[in-house]
Amino acid sequence: MIAYDINGRSYSLNESNLGGGEGKLYSVANHPELYAKIFKEEKRTRGREAKILEWEYMFEANELDKNFSDQVVIPRKCLYSQKSGQNIQTFLGYLMEKQTSFKVLKDVYVENDLSYAQKVWAARNLCILTNRVHSAQRGITIGDYNADNIVIFPQTSTAKFIDVDSFQLTIHRSNKRILCPCTVGVPEFMAPEIARRLKKEKTDLENVDQDADNPVFNKYTDLYAMAYHIFALLMNGSSPFASMANMEEISQHPSKNVSSIDIDQFHAAEKGEFVFARHLLFKKAPEYAPKYKMLSPELRKLFERAFIEGAKNPKVRPEAKEFYDALTEYLESLEECHCGHYGHYMPSTYTGECEWCRIENLK
Ligand SMILES: [Zn+2]
Repeated sequence: MIAYDINGRSYSLNESNLGGGEGKLYSVANHPELYAKIFKEEKRTRGREAKILEWEYMFEANELDKNFSDQVVIPRKCLYSQKSGQNIQTFLGYLMEKQTSFKVLKDVYVENDLSYAQKVWAARNLCILTNRVHSAQRGITIGDYNADNIVIFPQTSTAKFIDVDSFQLTIHRSNKRILCPCTVGVPEFMAPEIARRLKKEKTDLENVDQDADNPVFNKYTDLYAMAYHIFALLMNGSSPFASMANMEEISQHPSKNVSSIDIDQFHAAEKGEFVFARHLLFKKAPEYAPKYKMLSPELRKLFERAFIEGAKNPKVRPEAKEFYDALTEYLESLEECHCGHYGHYMPSTYTGECEWCRIENLK
């Protein structure tokens, strides 16, 4: 397949077996450092094209600093089926830098080859990454901040965003602000106010009525997802809203049975029912998560702001810098546990048994 950039330069593309719901990745002949993402036909919309062209413009005009483009795999060139000026010029996708030797964040949560300290380090790098996106000159929002869109390089625990074409941009044109919205998302990582709005307006992310003054995704919805990923990295892959039935409490209430206990994560997230910090009748934290009190008081305070108070008031969710500082302090407190097993780190101030041994013994 041959594709052209906006200047008429041609690229010879070969289909790979990589890709996702929106399109496929192609290798680029003579450019081993690049990949092309070619959208499925129904995804080749004007909205997507406008957004890719804006990324290309920002990149070429050096509007994004080097740190940003080092950590965010941005669309470099918009690709078309024909040279410009020809009759039928169809938008196809874009070129980006190829990434190798990484693990997606979702796998890092529970990866045994990485020590706990490395996971805390990766969590800290997520804070840097989030802050980098939010402090770019343009108002850029991550939007679909999901665990498949972030890759971690195990050698250094550094993080990068991939699939950046979903990010939300605001374009300034002749004194107008035009929203290029993010129209995809994974429910688990979306702040509860998004689910509430979509339910109320009986719509979905593709069709919701939004503009630059009232976008679905914003800085605070990103901060929710960031807190979620930090929690999962620190808590052995547990969602902040995972829970299990508390059999002891249920047995004391003859009218109750296990099936009547609501352990739905989405309900819990909307109500701010963070079972790790609050006692909720008939429910308890899952066994596979380490004890919440293992985390430092500072980290616990931040999680409670993110998941309890933040459910009602998104603006109280902690900033990336606050999590960064708390994680730095926590990282410094970690010691290899006296149990002697590889990767078992515990805070030096924690007086209980090794939580990682306890979790391994559950298997
Ligand atoms: Zn241990």
